[in-house]
Amino acid sequence: MPKARETVLEIDLNALEHNYRYLRSKVDQSVKFMAVVKAYGYGSDVVGIAKKLVDLGADYLAVAYTSEGITLRKAGIELPILVLHPQSYNFEDLIENCLEPSLYSEYVLREFIATAEKLKQKNYPVHLKFNTGLNRLGFSETETDMVRDYLKGTESIKAATFFSHLAASEDWKEREFTLMQIHTFKRIALKLFDELGYRPLLHICNTSGLINYPEAAFDMVRSGIGLYGFGNEALEDSKLKPIGTLKTIISQIHKIEKGETVGYNRAFKAMKPTKTATLPIGHADGINRQYGNGRAGVIVNGSYAPIIGNVCMDMLMIDITGIDCEEGDEVIIFGGPQHATKFAEKGNTISYELITGISQRVKRVIVEN
Ligand SMILES: *Cc1c(COP(=O)(O)O)cnc(C)c1O
Repeated sequence: MPKARETVLEIDLNALEHNYRYLRSKVDQSVKFMAVVKAYGYGSDVVGIAKKLVDLGADYLAVAYTSEGITLRKAGIELPILVLHPQSYNFEDLIENCLEPSLYSEYVLREFIATAEKLKQKNYPVHLKFNTGLNRLGFSETETDMVRDYLKGTESIKAATFFSHLAASEDWKEREFTLMQIHTFKRIALKLFDELGYRPLLHICNTSGLINYPEAAFDMVRSGIGLYGFGNEALEDSKLKPIGTLKTIISQIHKIEKGETVGYNRAFKAMKPTKTATLPIGHADGINRQYGNGRAGVIVNGSYAPIIGNVCMDMLMIDITGIDCEEGDEVIIFGGPQHATKFAEKGNTISYELITGISQRVKRVIVEN
């Protein structure tokens, strides 16, 4: 790998392949795999990731919004794409791009049927989402008769899948709650199977779900974070490979005296002669202020260098006292020697928020051998 010459997020497709194979090995071979690539592929490079997932044999992709699905279609991705949270105002765009909506309330169900009828669709594939305890999106169990009536009342759409989402699949303390969700989902699905006379595919597991409850994989799993290399717990993290490494370089080195300060609000004060480095990455790139003032650090030539003072919009400063380095040297923010989960913890957050927050200003570079 050539050394970074500016701030870059390297995306390792070999790691993606490793994670995909590992996650698939957790469930029965017949279980389909829906790869969740919302939010730019969890902040990576959605087109690069999606193309690789097509090559690897993923069965479905999932995004949050219609615009994200259109980006994939424009890039030539032909796999079925579930739109998890479509908005009714762009249902026409959704259909024109062969995207498949999650329908989760009477309002969106009715609106979608109206659009599908208007566009003269027949058996347009849709995905019905049931709320089994997360209380975010989804029909409740008491609405199943209504759902059935709408489905039976039109030829314009057909349920391709029924699904639900687990609230705490990574949390063993919530095992009973999770099992209740799985049970409720099964009950809803069986009732609708009977009444509709056909069987859409079922899916409820996200990454932690398929790892902790592989017996509840049903017909398909929906995995996001695992593909990007995070398992929500140390043991699983060790089996997955984070695909992203965020790198930057040293722009300038300063030697300051005891009593001098660094950065805005003079938030860092040197207690002794100190060598500092300024890096071209800041909170506008997704390294938020919560990582500043010594809470997190970066890796310079193999050594840990704490972030000092307040993180600025485009820059941050680190303490490199005692570290052999020069201007232009590569710096690793996370990835490789510094696991992103550890970095995120220092900012009181989780890997999901850290990686999806790396802004679009940061150049993405795909690596694969
Ligand atoms: C984001 C999302 C997923 C993926 O979850 P991971 O924990 O990243 O595997 C699955 N299903 C739904 C409904 C989601 O919103």
